[in-house]
This record gives sequence, structure tokens and C-alpha cells, in this order.
Amino acid sequence: MVRRLSLRSQITILVGLLCFGLACALALSSAYIARERAIGRITQASTVAAQTLANILDQGMAERYREVRNIAQLLPLREIWNRDPAEIRPVLEQLKVSFPAYAWIGFARPDGTVHAATYRMLEGQSVAARPWFQDGLHGPAVGDVHEAKLLAGILGPSPDNEPFRFVDVAAPVHNRDGTLAGVLGAHLSWSWASEMRGDLLNQSRNPDQEIWILSGDGTVLLGPKTGTKPFTEPQVRAMLRQTSGAFEDTRDGQVFLTGYAVADGYRDYPGFNWIILSRQPKQVAFAYAQQIAATILALGFAVALMGILATSLIAAKLVKPLQILTDAADRIGRDPSVRAFPRVGGSREVARLASSLRSLMRRAGLAERRVLETEQRSQAAHAQHEKDLTALRSLAETDALSGLLNRRGFDLFSQDAVDQFQRYGRNFAVLMADIDFFKKVNDTYGHAAGDEAIRAIARTLSEHLRPTDKVARFGGEEFVVLIREIGQEGVLTVAQNLRRAVELQDIVSGEHRFSVTISIGGALIGPADRDVQDLIERADVALYGAKTSGRNRVVIDGLGPRLASSAA
Ligand code: GH3
Ligand code: MG
Ligand code: MG
Repeated sequence: MVRRLSLRSQITILVGLLCFGLACALALSSAYIARERAIGRITQASTVAAQTLANILDQGMAERYREVRNIAQLLPLREIWNRDPAEIRPVLEQLKVSFPAYAWIGFARPDGTVHAATYRMLEGQSVAARPWFQDGLHGPAVGDVHEAKLLAGILGPSPDNEPFRFVDVAAPVHNRDGTLAGVLGAHLSWSWASEMRGDLLNQSRNPDQEIWILSGDGTVLLGPKTGTKPFTEPQVRAMLRQTSGAFEDTRDGQVFLTGYAVADGYRDYPGFNWIILSRQPKQVAFAYAQQIAATILALGFAVALMGILATSLIAAKLVKPLQILTDAADRIGRDPSVRAFPRVGGSREVARLASSLRSLMRRAGLAERRVLETEQRSQAAHAQHEKDLTALRSLAETDALSGLLNRRGFDLFSQDAVDQFQRYGRNFAVLMADIDFFKKVNDTYGHAAGDEAIRAIARTLSEHLRPTDKVARFGGEEFVVLIREIGQEGVLTVAQNLRRAVELQDIVSGEHRFSVTISIGGALIGPADRDVQDLIERADVALYGAKTSGRNRVVIDGLGPRLASSAA
């Protein structure tokens, strides 16, 4: 599948996948980083919020602690504690209006009877059993959050329908002589802490944020289920030990990022070790990260699409020279107008490919020419060989002196005539011619003149025959003539013509000029002849007849003596 795709498509798909992969990787890693940072940020903000509320509560409590102590210890006020409650009450009421959270301020005698109180509440009643009174007898003291049934009954229902809960501050009051005058105590409404918490939540404007306040033993003072203990003992102990920090907390299947701080006092106020927790679901961090991931993914995809488009265009440009080269390769050898690879632009590799192909074509052309030349040379050599062979063959079949056929040549030629006779009944005849008294020629004019006579007679015989006929010399001064397509009368005529031509011929050798005669014996092929040799023998017999009957004459085998002998 991939192999069938064009290079352009392959590059484009590859870059596309790469771009999308990168976009996804970028989005995922960004989401991860964003989530981690969001978790860090939320955790830190939660811890800071918890710390802030812890400080506010601590400082508020420290203020009250200081105020109550101051009032109890102020020297000018020492005179008034034993006087009429009406004189003490304005002091207490003045203190109460200075801080709205004061729910009740009272002065109790050492026996526990309330001597004076704001709005006269509980005056005359005994508070001897109350922890704040007991603690206050011995020195400045604070009392942790508790419900006050007595006071709740007097104050009526609370605005949020929660039971009234209070924090106590108490300090002993002494007379001028140093003896104990009583205990000054104040109840602070716990709704003060609730307001502080509300203020902080309003400031953060985060609907997912929750703030819980736990007592030092882990009981919820402010939070979802007041009075429960949402954390285990070791968890609470760990928080108290660390005083501030953060952790992840799974509740009802949801993970919360929780920052905490312990309100452990301020200056000389010892603190109740309230644990302030600021919580946010961890999902908030995920949502933030998901939003960032989606944004980056969308941007990444847009960039990837542009990248694919650009890559497709660039790939088309890259591939173009390859297409040009391929087209040229397709046409070379088919289209005579295309003989070489074109020069193409593009990358260094493509330019190199083009130049390599061009030089390859040059080398191929050179090799082709070499092969052609070799072929031509071998053809020429072959032709020469054939020529040599033909020459050699004709040399082997030729008589050197006369240039006529020798016995071997004649045998080959006559075999054809015999075949023709046997197949088609085409007649042929053989003449045997012998020079008369040749010994004498040699003796008289010399051997060279004899040779010249042989050559001259060979020429004369050849000239007086048809091209289809043949003269041969087997050696000596004897000639053999083969005459095709002839009857018995014709043989005689031809033989007489030859005899007469020789007789009339002048032979010149050096200064000698002479003439010779020949005797001829002839025979016509017949059904009894097995081969040309049989015919030659019959002609030889006829020649012998011609010699014995006087020379320079013709005898044809089978013809009567009257016709056969023809004297010069
Ligand atoms: P006839 O045939 O008429 O009976 O008499 P003749 O003289 O021709 O007798 P014969 O055939 O016996 O002699 C042939 C002579 O021809 C013998 C030889 O010296 C000579 N001769 C043979 N071949 C050649 C040749 O190639 N060159 C020359 N110069 N002489 C040759
Ligand atoms: Mg002879
Ligand atoms: Mg002779």
C-alpha cells in the first residue's frame, strides 16, 4: 500500500502524522504541566487561606485575652469591683460594645456568684462550676468552644439556628491589698469565627472552596458536619505537629486538595490549636489543564494542517525533477527526439542523479558503438574468410598452368550433370582432346613453348564453348570437355569446331610461332553409365580411335566411322 503511494503523498502523510503527533504530545505535556502547576497553585492558595484565617482567629483571640486581662488588672478600676453592680456594669458594657463578638461579660465573686454582668444577665446566679471561673481563679485563662445552655436560654434562638457556642476569656481581679476580688469573664460568640471564615470565602470568590475549622482534637467546629471527626487521630496529630501544610484527601470518591494551618496562639495568647482547613476539589485543576490542552490541541491541529499543505506543495516541487527524469527515461529509445536526460534543478541529490544518468547514457552510447564496430569488424572478417575459403576452394579445383578445372573440380561439376541426367534425363557429353605429337613440340621449341601451347589451347577451347559447358585439364597435354544439353550429332559438330579452332590457331612463344592439332574422342551419356568415369573411359576409347586413324580428327562413340572421322 505504502509502496504504491506517490512520494509526494508519502512525505505529506509522514509530515502530517508527525505534526499531529507533535501537537498531541505538546497538548498532553502542556496539560500535565498545567495540571501540576494548578495543583501547586491551588495547594499553596489553600495553605495561605488556612494560614490567614488561623492568624485572624489567633490575633482576635489574643486581643480579647489582652483586653480582659487589662480590665481585670487596671489599677484605677480596682476600687470599683466591690462596689454596687450599677457602677461596674458600665465598664463591662463599654468593653462589650468595643467588640461585637462579646456575647456576655460578667464579674463573679470568689464564691462564684455573678456580681455584675452586661444586661444584668446571670447576675446573682452561681458560675462556680464553670471551667472559665475555676481557671480564672488561678490566672488569665481561655476556654475552648463550648455550648452555654444557661446563656443560650437567655439569648434566645441564634440567627443561623445553630446552637450558641462560645469561647471564654477569664482573668482574676485583685483588691488593692492583693486579695482576690473575683473573676472577670467574657463569652465570645463563636459566630465571630464563622463570620471571619465567610469574609475570607467571599474574598476568594471561589465557589469550589471550602473552609473547615476543627478543634485541637479533630472535631469539626465549623464545616459540613459539626461535631464529627473527619480525620483520623494520626492525621490530626500530624497536622498539629507540622502546624501548616497541604495534602490530598479523598472523600465520597472525590479528591480534594487541602491546605491547613494550626491556630497555635499569638504572643502570650496560648491558642487552642484549632486546625483551619481550606479545601478545593482536585477536579478544578484537571478542568484547568483540560482547557489548556484543548486550546493547544486546536492550535496544534491548525498549525499541522498548514504544515501539511506547505509540505504537499514543497514535496510536489521536490518530486517534479524526478518526474522529468522518469519521463525522459520512458522516452529514450522510443522517441528519437529524446536522446539524453535533461538538466534539472532541485536538490543536490536530484542534480547528481540527473548528471549520473547523463553520464550513464554517454557510457552506454560508447559501449553500443564499440559493440557495433566489433560486429562490423567480425562481419568483415567473416566475409574475408568466406572469400579466402572460396579462393582456396577454387584453387583446389583449378589447374595452375591453364587456369582450367583440374580433375577434382571437374568431378564436382560433372557430378551435377550426372544428377541432372539421372533425375531429368538431361543429356550431356564428354570430349577427350589430346595434342598430337606434343613431344616433338617440347623437343623443337622447348618446354616453355609447350606450356604456352597448353595455355593457348585451353583459352581457345574455353572461348568456343557455351558458358554452361566446361573444359578441364587433368595434367599432361590432355583436355576434358563437358557439353550440356546435347545430342549425338551436336557432339560431333562441337568437337569438329574445337578441333578446327585449335588447328587454325597460331601459338607464339618467344620468337617461335607455330601451330598444333588435337585429336578428339567423344561419348554421349547413356543409361548404362554409372558415373562420369564410365563416360570418360568411352571417350578415351574414341580418342584412341582418332589417334590411330591418323590424328587431327574426331571420333564419337556410337557413331559410324564415316561420320566420326573428319580429316583436316
Ligand atoms: P601423340 O599423342 O600424337 O601420339 O604423340 P605425342 O608426342 O603427344 O606422344 P605422348 O603423348 O607420348 O607424349 C606426350 C609428351 O608431352 C610427353 C611430355 O614430355 C609432354 N608433356 C606432358 N605434359 C607436359 C607439359 O605440361 N608441358 C610440356 N611442355 N610438355 C609436356
Ligand atoms: Mg598424350
Ligand atoms: Mg599427344
